[in-house]
Amino acid sequence: MHKKGNLFVVSGPSGAGKGTIIREISKNDNDFKLSVSVTTRAPRNKEIEGVNYYFKTKEKFMDMIENDEFLEYAEVYDNFYGTPKKLVLEAVEKGETILLEIDIQGAIQVKKNYPEGIFIFILPPTMAELKNRIIERGSETDETLKKRMLSAFHEISYMEKYDYFIINDVLEDSIKSFKSIIKAEKCRVMANVKNLLKTYEEEL
Ligand code: 5GP
Repeated sequence: MHKKGNLFVVSGPSGAGKGTIIREISKNDNDFKLSVSVTTRAPRNKEIEGVNYYFKTKEKFMDMIENDEFLEYAEVYDNFYGTPKKLVLEAVEKGETILLEIDIQGAIQVKKNYPEGIFIFILPPTMAELKNRIIERGSETDETLKKRMLSAFHEISYMEKYDYFIINDVLEDSIKSFKSIIKAEKCRVMANVKNLLKTYEEEL
């Protein structure tokens, strides 16, 4: 039976740990693919073109907007980020499970353009812990730290737009919750009912 794939959208303030959760799950789960975004920000240490992001100039990014190449795009902390539309929609159509790790502005656009998406929000246990995690990363100045904390709270206030939330305190628990959500969504009746009925009918 051909089953359409699922599109999962994962957001949460930077430092909540969405990257870690996704990385851990990707290690021993070939069930889903992480979409690689396009960005105008400069590569950080050890980031690889085509693996972490497709790094582009602002001019190239603007061309891509013009050519309607994005499922969504947004300006985050003075840089542009976008999800390549064709790759993602074709993969979902083929039956693959695709995961987008994007900010709330982008998630809201995906909700409009692809309402069947499943939206997961990752929360830090406390704001103090979030601050610690951002500081530990060591790439922030006082000013950008302040900016990130304010924008973190702003993002959290949009949580109600999402279908699920995970409070990322103990990583192992968060991973279990994440996997359970993926599993449950794959068993959702409404998303699969037409194909399932067709298959059973053909076998009558
Ligand atoms: P970073 O620069 O730390 O890798 O990412 C900064 C923010 O941009 C994160 O909140 C991340 O989720 C978001 N982001 C990454 N890729 C995309 C994308 O394709 N679209 C949108 N809207 N946000 C993205």
